[in-house]
Amino acid sequence: FGKLLIVVTPTYNRPVQASYLTRLSHTLKLVPPPLLWIVVEMSTQSMETASLLRKTGVMYRHLVCKKNMTDVKDRGVHQRNTALEHIEHHQLDGIVYFADDDNVYTLELFEQMRLIKRFGTWPVAMLAAGKSKTILEGPVCNGHTVIGWHTNEKSKRLRRFHVDMSGFAFNSTILWDPVRWHKPTTEPIRQLDNIKEGFQETTFIEQLVEDESQMEGLPSGCSKIMVWHLHFEAPNIMYPPGWRLQENLNAT
Ligand code: UDP
Repeated sequence: FGKLLIVVTPTYNRPVQASYLTRLSHTLKLVPPPLLWIVVEMSTQSMETASLLRKTGVMYRHLVCKKNMTDVKDRGVHQRNTALEHIEHHQLDGIVYFADDDNVYTLELFEQMRLIKRFGTWPVAMLAAGKSKTILEGPVCNGHTVIGWHTNEKSKRLRRFHVDMSGFAFNSTILWDPVRWHKPTTEPIRQLDNIKEGFQETTFIEQLVEDESQMEGLPSGCSKIMVWHLHFEAPNIMYPPGWRLQENLNAT
């Protein structure tokens, strides 16, 4: 058996949700087990997500984050924290990966993640609607050694690590066995809220590693795109007023 992969997906109710979760579940189904998919919704479990998850054939846990969203900047943050608490509390032993519901992932990515000892990172292609160029974010590597970062000009000097949320994964034991990893504090590792937009990843990663020497760039040379971060969401897709799935699908 390979190493357990613990894939954490925050998700929320909107018209595109079922299509995204279906697509992601198909990807995860193709990954050789063991894999645990932790899907976290806010406030309550939705029936649609519960029923979709039951049919995927992927091992999963459907968690609920009770905390109310305080700020739009906190998108998914509290839900990821709920998953981190769960992993810590149950001392799950595997590689943790934050997989947003709307991104596209290669199978090679999951193969590569199984090689991670402490913290692995790779470049992510950022595809945004309306922008003319594709922006790359993530490590520049010499073999597995991280020697620099691809980033966009604006934030170059400010962020410590230029990694996207879908551009890294780490050993879950860091969450519950700090002594083994020589972590300076025993404070729980969490995503912090009220962090300036774009700094979520770096502030989180700074709790996991001290510097690039504790990182593993993947695959060797970091010269492949294994995940695409999409920003195509059409916020104006809405159901017609009064439309109900149950009644309207059966109406004809
Ligand atoms: N998300 C969520 N609740 C929210 C906003 C976002 O659960 O209120 C989830 C969303 O489903 C996705 C992840 O958080 O899995 C990242 O959201 P999104 O892709 O919209 O953010 P972006 O990365 O584009 O800033």
